[in-house]
Amino acid sequence: MLIRRATLLDGTTADIRVGVLIDEVGDGLAAAPGERVLDAAGGTVLPGLHDHHVHLRSAAAALDSLLVGPPGVGTKEQLAQALCQAGPSSDGWIRAIGYHESVAGRLDRDLLDAMVPVIPLRIQHRSGALWILNSAALGRIGLAGHPDGRLHSADPSWSAGLPRRETNLARLSGRLTSMGVTGVTDATPDLSAADMESLQEAHRRGEFRPRIRFLAPGKKILHDDRLDLDALTVWISDCHRAGRPVAVHCVTAAQLVVTIAALRAAGSHPLDRIEHAAVVPDDTLTDLCDLGATVVSQPNFVAERGDQYFAEIPAAEHHQLWRIASLLNATVPMALSTDMPFGRDDPWAAMRAAVRRITASGAVLNSTECISARTALAMFLGRPDRPGRGRTITPGQPGDLCVLSQPPAAALAQLDSALVAATIIGGEIVYASRECPRA
Ligand SMILES: [Zn+2]
Repeated sequence: MLIRRATLLDGTTADIRVGVLIDEVGDGLAAAPGERVLDAAGGTVLPGLHDHHVHLRSAAAALDSLLVGPPGVGTKEQLAQALCQAGPSSDGWIRAIGYHESVAGRLDRDLLDAMVPVIPLRIQHRSGALWILNSAALGRIGLAGHPDGRLHSADPSWSAGLPRRETNLARLSGRLTSMGVTGVTDATPDLSAADMESLQEAHRRGEFRPRIRFLAPGKKILHDDRLDLDALTVWISDCHRAGRPVAVHCVTAAQLVVTIAALRAAGSHPLDRIEHAAVVPDDTLTDLCDLGATVVSQPNFVAERGDQYFAEIPAAEHHQLWRIASLLNATVPMALSTDMPFGRDDPWAAMRAAVRRITASGAVLNSTECISARTALAMFLGRPDRPGRGRTITPGQPGDLCVLSQPPAAALAQLDSALVAATIIGGEIVYASRECPRA
């Protein structure tokens, strides 16, 4: 197909011929007989956005799950009300997500039984690491005698008993492509080969249009109470020896410090990644630069959870949270992502958060870490395999594009998903807004 009158991010105008790859970029390209033409009318044409850290199955399930955390649900009364109004879904269960202790403290089966006595109910903690089940739910999965109903997500022994849910990947695909997303990296721990194959199969048959990349198997989640430098070093060495880069999830300062030490001892692979880096102490900046591992961050949590950070984290540590500018200044390779469904799935909202760092209540968290709109956008345009390296609109690049309704200056001023006029994957239009002019 031919895209006419495109404006590239550098301000130049061009026509773009795109198939599986970008074939031609030039002025006054003529449409071949029968060739589909899209008139960008001066709007920006970008490489399609890639969300570098997501959880696909959870995100699809979240589309029809009840949200029981802030800001929508903030008190125990609101939690009880939300749960009472919720009917069970087709599998007979209520599935709720996004819970945080600020709502009603530490949940257990007794608390849930008081609110939902009969229908099986499971609530996921916002961290994704924990589920809390009521007695009806525990009975269904053969754990009637469980002491408190708090079960770890990483433990497959109980989750195998859950009803199989038909997750709505097609709906998720529609949402993502409408925001210009043409690829995602699934960072779910412990994805089996069968899980990965079924997701790729959904992509091949067109149910899920964005391209899918997996972080598995070389990835690791750390736990503060079980940090073991030697074990982590051995694991990293083994992965590297097998030719596999690693992706280590670092949510706390302790996790980052141990990961840096382990990578130093084991040596690094050019494609190593550090996920989140939610807390970056000053003295780790040079180490991160030396290691060359790519940091994949989620600034959307500044907007989504910033008020909680202000309430719970000592002021002296605020400057360490979700840093971007100081990492870029230290020349650490970086990319952005949303961590959906644990973060909101809108990459444009994540970019705005990276630029403005404004919390829900309007406070600014650590303004020295703000970056420009252009930089924030570029951090969603990295290569799937090398998130810190940008893709470009040049012949030979993948035919995955995002067409905006506005030229670059206006688009960068707004950073809004509503600007996405069309999304193209492999030369095929997979989304077009109602206003998108087509010939
Ligand atoms: Zn994640």
